[in-house]
Amino acid sequence: MTLLDKGDKPTGGGRTGEPLVVLDGVNKWYGDLHVLQDINLSVREREVVVVIGPSGSGKSTLCRTINRLETIDSGSITLDGQLLPQEGKALANLRAEVGMVFQSFNLFAHKSILENVTLGPIKVRGQGKAEAETRARELLDRVGVGHQADKYPAQLSGGQQQRVAIARALAMNPKVMLFDEPTSALDPEMIKEVLDVMVDLAEGGMTMIVVTHEMGFARTAADRVIFMADGAIAEENDPESFFTNPQSDRAKDFLGKIL
Ligand code: ADP
Ligand code: MG
Repeated sequence: MTLLDKGDKPTGGGRTGEPLVVLDGVNKWYGDLHVLQDINLSVREREVVVVIGPSGSGKSTLCRTINRLETIDSGSITLDGQLLPQEGKALANLRAEVGMVFQSFNLFAHKSILENVTLGPIKVRGQGKAEAETRARELLDRVGVGHQADKYPAQLSGGQQQRVAIARALAMNPKVMLFDEPTSALDPEMIKEVLDVMVDLAEGGMTMIVVTHEMGFARTAADRVIFMADGAIAEENDPESFFTNPQSDRAKDFLGKIL
């Protein structure tokens, strides 16, 4: 009863809701390379899915198809029941609903931290400057860099810049957040501060697809681990089962190398 009172659907473990991102029979080729092979994946509201797998297995391509930085050759991708738009304003709106955080933080070097976060809401969402700034400051506080708002990206550490990149994506009120190896370019001492922000987001109910080899994060935050090999989903399971008892030889081999 309590779950239903909060608007949750009585599905799965109770925490997650309706399918939000659905890939159905997705295939993609780069020339002769079959980079995504018949991908079927349904990510529910509030679900956190960690994607792992060897370099070149198609993890980044998978992420990039979901906000249509890449096209697909067959199959379909829907976000909240709608097919991904192909172009124009509808595509810009879609990109706003799918927040993306990359390995390289990709902040605008010549804009202040605050401007980095307000730009999208003002340009794409049509928010007023004052409203956008108030929200940006809240988000910067939330990721722990509120006091850096008037600085420029180069004045911040890598970990701080990546947290700004997360705040910038959140400012668009995305339905889902994609993270593609968000801590891979960071010095070791900065990894935790970024993962802590991601765990906080996950606990707050954000729907997340996270490419990462950070097993601690996967164990703490993931509902499900997807293991990719050669462009296909080779295995999927809850994190505990996947890490302690991988089924496929590819997954065993991969975990043997990284753990
Ligand atoms: P991962 O993120 O798992 O390391 P990627 O999705 O980046 O893998 O790449 C999957 C495969 O597709 C790799 O073999 C890569 O070289 C190839 N690839 C990626 N982007 C392109 C592209 N734009 N053109 C041709 N091949 C590409
Ligand atoms: Mg990649």
